[in-house]
Amino acid sequence: NTFAEIDLGDALNLNIRRCKYVRPTPVQRYAIPISLAGRDLMACAQTGSGKTAAFCFPIISGIMTGNFPRRPRGVRTVFPLALILSPTRELSVQINEEAKKFSYQTGVRVVVAYGGAPINQQLRELERGVDILVATPGRLVDLLERAKVSLQMIRYLALDEADRMLDMGFEPQIRKIVEQMDMPPPGERQTMLFSATFPKEIQRMASDFLSNYIFLAV
Ligand code: AMP
Repeated sequence: NTFAEIDLGDALNLNIRRCKYVRPTPVQRYAIPISLAGRDLMACAQTGSGKTAAFCFPIISGIMTGNFPRRPRGVRTVFPLALILSPTRELSVQINEEAKKFSYQTGVRVVVAYGGAPINQQLRELERGVDILVATPGRLVDLLERAKVSLQMIRYLALDEADRMLDMGFEPQIRKIVEQMDMPPPGERQTMLFSATFPKEIQRMASDFLSNYIFLAV
């Protein structure tokens, strides 16, 4: 069982070889086929399990091969196709770096936005276009309120370290963010929720945000 046997698109498969990933980790082995099949997923995953690739590969592959409606251009609002929410600046930066390596020469553009840093440079990066937005919840709410980002075209949502986001008090922001996706294309969004623990609050989030999902514990 190797990545060479999983068709994620030539450019992505090449980048995976460049990263020297040969065999999927356990979470990748199960999460990637489930996501490629279009199913929602709630996965138990610790740091170091390879969860970043587990949610990045299906998203990048899906964007490379998908047929999406034309997104408005020339306005000051950008329309990402995928959103990866993470609790901290450090984790967002790390996900952004990995996602950029995986999407090298795929035509998929990744942008990161996190709080605790000036917003202007992030705005300039966003204005150049974005397919995958990696963001912390607070900064994303700010961008939504400024109408710099629209979530109307989101097809893929990944919530990373969901339990940590709840511990940090981000539940209201996360609910506000997901509500903005629920308006136009119902059922067209694919959602992946990653968490190290599964308290009641996470289970409630899963039943609110995921549809007909597969629970994965590895
Ligand atoms: P993560 O849990 O996503 O933070 O990944 C932990 C570390 O494992 C990172 O340094 C990844 O680059 C690396 N990694 C993830 N998947 C694989 C794989 N299939 N083969 C080798 N290294 C991997």
